[in-house]
Amino acid sequence: MELDYDFIIIGSGFGGSVSALRLSEKGYKVLVVEKGKWYKAKDFAKTNWNIRKWLWIPFFRCFGIMKLTIFRHVAIISGTGVGGGSLVYANTLPVPKSDFYNTGSWKELNNWEEELIPYYATAKKMLGVTRNPKLFSGDFELKQLAKEMGKEEEFEHTNVGVYFGEENVTAKDPYFKGQGPDRKGCVFCGGCMTGCRHNSKNSLDKNYLFLAQKNGAKIMAENEVYDIIPLNNEDGSTGYKIKLRSSTKLFKEKKTFTTKGVVLSGGVLGTIKLLLKVNKKSLPRLSDRLGGDIRTNNETLISVSKLDRKEDVSKGIAIGSILHTDDNSHLEIVRYAKGSGFWKLFHLPYTTGSNAFIRILKMIGSFIKAPLSYLKIYFVNNWSKSTIVLLFMQSIDSKLKFKRNVFGRMSSSISSGKRPSPFIPESIKLAKKYKNITKGKETSFALETLAGIPSTAHILGGAVMGKDRKHGVIDKNNQVFGYESMYIVDGSMISANPGVNPSLSITAIAERAMDQISAK
Ligand SMILES: Cc1cc2nc3c(=O)[nH]c(=O)nc-3n(C[C@H](O)[C@H](O)[C@H](O)COP(=O)(O)OP(=O)(O)OC[C@H]3O[C@@H](n4cnc5c(N)ncnc54)[C@H](O)[C@@H]3O)c2cc1C
Ligand code: SF4
Repeated sequence: MELDYDFIIIGSGFGGSVSALRLSEKGYKVLVVEKGKWYKAKDFAKTNWNIRKWLWIPFFRCFGIMKLTIFRHVAIISGTGVGGGSLVYANTLPVPKSDFYNTGSWKELNNWEEELIPYYATAKKMLGVTRNPKLFSGDFELKQLAKEMGKEEEFEHTNVGVYFGEENVTAKDPYFKGQGPDRKGCVFCGGCMTGCRHNSKNSLDKNYLFLAQKNGAKIMAENEVYDIIPLNNEDGSTGYKIKLRSSTKLFKEKKTFTTKGVVLSGGVLGTIKLLLKVNKKSLPRLSDRLGGDIRTNNETLISVSKLDRKEDVSKGIAIGSILHTDDNSHLEIVRYAKGSGFWKLFHLPYTTGSNAFIRILKMIGSFIKAPLSYLKIYFVNNWSKSTIVLLFMQSIDSKLKFKRNVFGRMSSSISSGKRPSPFIPESIKLAKKYKNITKGKETSFALETLAGIPSTAHILGGAVMGKDRKHGVIDKNNQVFGYESMYIVDGSMISANPGVNPSLSITAIAERAMDQISAK
């Protein structure tokens, strides 16, 4: 039987884009199916008040690049669109410390630290990783904090995937010997997380996906895969039937394609949701570990707003600097572009404590003590011009499990370690010190104050590696246990806590996985 494709890739984020390029280079006929829209530089929202272009809420006809999903134990932001999370992400691409390679369910499968060295090098080259050349207000205060802590050597400019050519000047492809698209030098506008309107961010549509298309890979946007059925109804050795439907049209037009192989790259929220849906009926051989070992990177996000109206912290790239505060933790300075004040609608004065009632009383107390300051933050000052978000991350582990509940929706439960908390003592101390330096006021996402639910942009795991299907969902080469020519290549394959922004690691591990597949 002749099949439509050699490989269908579900999702076009970091894992999906690497897979598309490498499989098309190996001579395979490739289709990439992407739920989100195809955005060009000029199409991105000017500020995040344009929620139709910024947020993905199909029910309200909002087809933007960022999705917010709230679970009982964590609120997750993730990316959608051709290029996945790279459209909305903050470009920061660090290499994790040793612990990452020597912990978790993958530790005995390989000497990962050594094995991945060449793949990190390729990933850095492809994503154009370079040191942020300029610091601005917000970064300087982090440097001051480092000094006060006696940790000046631990302060760094971030390594990012941005083109820093001459500001606002178009240049011929600087990365792929003229085979890539033209680019423009970054203007340090701070708008990376609403989508770069200046063609400076090295999002995946400008590298991996661009080159994959040149090799003949087809990208089908605005379609969501909802079922994967082995053609022989067993192990998929004769191929798969992939069912998709429109994700943006009111009347959901459906299509079916056949393929020899499948790469699941829908990110944790896409891949795990899809597999939990089909594992009872279409893919019953999947490991029982599916949905387990979900990690949040132990993150907290605390905003600090300066009170002087003349201050402008929105200048710079989204994450300009980083401070390694101890062996397990670090702090990054995050900003939005001038005018992008949408988040203030969901921010409350920052308080901590294990009991919601006490937190609310403390919050009212903070407001009563400084009403004018809070009124200024919410009603007078330009929120993004005066506000820095402190992103704190830790490599210490706590794990969740995702499962499908009786209503057919994905839900979370604790699988091991402590419940993830937005109130991590180290981050509380650091935010206080930073606030004192800036003479500002702290606020945080309302869910943290009211419900004690932390937020993360870095959800990982759910289809981790193991030596067999009892210990993992995939093997060390990303092949799914129980099925032939089926791979999981995205954040859900991450089998330990990197403790840093994960996209470079996802790219490197994806490069390795694709290297194991022989040419057609
Ligand atoms: C605001 C923000 C800032 C961030 N900043 C950073 C940063 O600075 N550095 C960093 O390393 N990371 C950052 N991240 C995290 C980073 O974006 C993710 O870790 C990364 O994108 C995950 O890559 P992935 O390969 O797992 O898939 P993703 O990039 O999440 O892509 C998955 C794609 O699959 C699509 N999809 C899902 N299900 C289906 C389906 N059934 N059918 C078709 N398509 C589907 C989705 O629409 C999406 O486009 C940030 C995230 C956010 C939201
Ligand atoms: S700072 Fe502005 S120009 Fe530079 S990458 Fe971010 S959005 Fe693009």
